[in-house]
Amino acid sequence: MENFVNERIDQVLKRFPDCCHCSRCRQDILVLALNHLPPRYCSSNNGEVYTRLDLYDTQQEAEIFQEITKAVEIVSSHPRHAI
Ligand SMILES: [Zn+2]
Repeated sequence: MENFVNERIDQVLKRFPDCCHCSRCRQDILVLALNHLPPRYCSSNNGEVYTRLDLYDTQQEAEIFQEITKAVEIVSSHPRHAI
């Protein structure tokens, strides 16, 4: 199954060319975004985090996009590693 949130992160990162796109920062963005989304959007299984596509709708997409954008802003201003 394709990771819904990861696809959205790709889309958001295109709008933030200054943000680091490495796998570590992407992981930070993913965790931050999911932390701020209601638990109904995602579940954790064997450490993998994924969204429940059966609950997907337009309102939720807007909310997910908003949280990913915030997470990108946080990670890009506080990267966890030297550039
Ligand atoms: Zn990075």
